[in-house]
Amino acid sequence: MTRFLLWLAAGALLSGCCAPRWQQRDTLTQIATIDALLTGVYEGPTTVGQLLRHGDFGLGTFHQLDGEMIVLDGRCYQVTSDGRANRVSRSTHTPFAAVTWFRPDREHDLPPGATMAEATALIDRLLPTVNLFYAIRIDGEFTRVKVRSVPRQTPPYRPLVEVVKEQPVYELEHVTGTLVGFRCPPYAGSLNVPGYHLHFITADRTRGGHVLDLAVARARVGIDDTHTLTVRLPDDAAFYQAPLDKERQAELHRVEK
Ligand code: ZN
Repeated sequence: MTRFLLWLAAGALLSGCCAPRWQQRDTLTQIATIDALLTGVYEGPTTVGQLLRHGDFGLGTFHQLDGEMIVLDGRCYQVTSDGRANRVSRSTHTPFAAVTWFRPDREHDLPPGATMAEATALIDRLLPTVNLFYAIRIDGEFTRVKVRSVPRQTPPYRPLVEVVKEQPVYELEHVTGTLVGFRCPPYAGSLNVPGYHLHFITADRTRGGHVLDLAVARARVGIDDTHTLTVRLPDDAAFYQAPLDKERQAELHRVEK
C-alpha cells in the first residue's frame, strides 16, 4: 500500500508544472474515491469549473447525488433522475468525478448487434495490458441503450447501495450518441470502479445516464491509454469522517450493475 501511495504522489508531481505536455494529457484526475461515495459522501468542495481544468472528458455525479455526470468535448452535462440531460454551470459541486484530456491511442469499429458484454470483451482484446487506466469513448448508433440515473438525496445520507434500489431505469431505442467512461484495473478497487464504467449521452444532448447494457447498430470506439493517476481528496468533514476502513467490492458490484 505504501508503494501505491508513493506512486500516486509521484503521479501528482509529474502532472504538475514541470511535466511535458504528453504527461499532462495522459493523466486521469479524480475527485475523492468510489468508496467514499458508497458510504454516502454526496457533497464535496470541488466545483465543475475546477474539475474542467483537469480534463475535457469523463464522468461522475453531482452535489447530493443529483444525477449522472458526463463530461464530453469540454462540456459538462447532468442527467437527472427523469433521464433528461442538461448543461450545468461551472459553480455546481461534485462529490465524485474523474476526467482526462481525451486523445485516442487506438480506434476500432464495434460489430453490429454487440451487447455491452460483447463490446467490452472486444475492447479488452485491443488493450496492451489490463494493468493501466483507459479512457473509453464510443460514438455511434445504438439499437438500444439501457441507462439509469440516481435521484437527488437529502441528509442524513443513506449508503449508495440503498439509494440505487430505487433508481429509475430507461431503455433508449434507436439512438445516436456517445458513451463516455473508463476502464480501471482491478487493483484500483477502493479508489474507482474496476472494469468498465460508462455513461451515455444522446447526440442532441437531451437524454442519457449510467449505462447498464446496450446493443450496437454502428459504432466506433476510441481508447486513450492513461499512465498517470491523480487523486484529489476533499478537505472537508464529510470525507474526513467517512468509514473507509472496509472492503466494499461486493457493494460496488451491486451499485454498478
Ligand atoms: Zn456511473
